Amino acid sequence: MTKSIPELVNTGIHKLRAYEPGKSIDELERELGISPIVKMASNENPLGPSQKVKAAIQSHLDNLCVYPDADCYHLKTLLSEKLQVNNRQLVIGNGSNEVLELIAKVFLQESDEVIFSEHAFAMYSIFSEAMGATLVAVKDRNWCHDLDAMADAITEKTKIIFIANPNNPTGTWVSKGELKAFLKSVPEHVIVVLDEAYFEYVDQENYQSGLHYIDRFPNLVVTRTFSKVYGLANIRVGYAVASETIAGYMNRVRQPFNVSGISEVAAIAALGDQEYLLKSLETNALGMAQLQMGIGALNLDYIPSVANFLTIRVGDLAQDIYQALLRKGYIVRPLSGYGMTSYLRISVGTEAQNQGFLVALKEVLDSL
Ligand SMILES: *Cc1c(COP(=O)(O)O)cnc(C)c1O
Repeated sequence: MTKSIPELVNTGIHKLRAYEPGKSIDELERELGISPIVKMASNENPLGPSQKVKAAIQSHLDNLCVYPDADCYHLKTLLSEKLQVNNRQLVIGNGSNEVLELIAKVFLQESDEVIFSEHAFAMYSIFSEAMGATLVAVKDRNWCHDLDAMADAITEKTKIIFIANPNNPTGTWVSKGELKAFLKSVPEHVIVVLDEAYFEYVDQENYQSGLHYIDRFPNLVVTRTFSKVYGLANIRVGYAVASETIAGYMNRVRQPFNVSGISEVAAIAALGDQEYLLKSLETNALGMAQLQMGIGALNLDYIPSVANFLTIRVGDLAQDIYQALLRKGYIVRPLSGYGMTSYLRISVGTEAQNQGFLVALKEVLDSL
């Protein structure tokens, strides 16, 4: 008996739904034929890339015909100094999404369970489901990861726990004390992945990066990205820091040329541009305050965020509001994919973008 193509597909892939990215400016232009369009949907840096990065990419153009360094030696060396780890503890990926996927590939098979928080970043379940693992979503508390409940959900079958700190799409975070107690309580047969895509934005005394615990917990993996505060979402570079053992396995399944040379030099230049980093953080802090004030003035609630986006409750008409904002040239992020049907997520923009968005939102709300 012959099998149909769908019957040949791996079990985990059957029910998988592809990730829905934020709508792009180009796509909206094609759909509506309007401009200008402001995208506040994917937590990108509104300042554009650093000038130093642009210059570094320019000077690398003659190398386009040769394969990149399969080991990203120069980027790893710089990161290892900066982070006080050794090169063998690092895995460089095509965005941090790739390193998250590598973790799933290294550790997961059918019969394994993966724990993550309800309303946590969607890629954890996508990568885990693709490997055929069983997904265990743990209820959150006030939009925050409930680490006690996540620890209670551990069984003999648990292989990985994903924690986003801060979390996307809620912007909430896990405190130093909670994190430490959690790490101590997790048995060593469970891999803990701390996704720190937004850690640079956090300005809380009680926040601590998982990097602090890397030497103490051999089952811990910390992931980071150049896509957000470094303004390089397009070049796709992220990394994982882990024990040499874990990083070694991840590097075995990684494709040799997963990160382009352009991307590597861009990431190196970005790490060297402290001024851009500070300006980005300052822009974000001011923009966040501006958005929170404006949203409050519209009598809307939001989830307090320590990242570069704000998730606001607009009510049952969220989808209509989203569509109406699109027609005014503002792309934001609907969250129905996360089960948050009355919410929209707005990335913090420049002062002018935030202002324009608030005006557009008011007009849309008034017209309902
Ligand atoms: C944006 C984001 C990432 C980063 O993805 P890249 O592949 O590095 O661009 C990772 N985790 C979370 C929670 C994010 O929001």
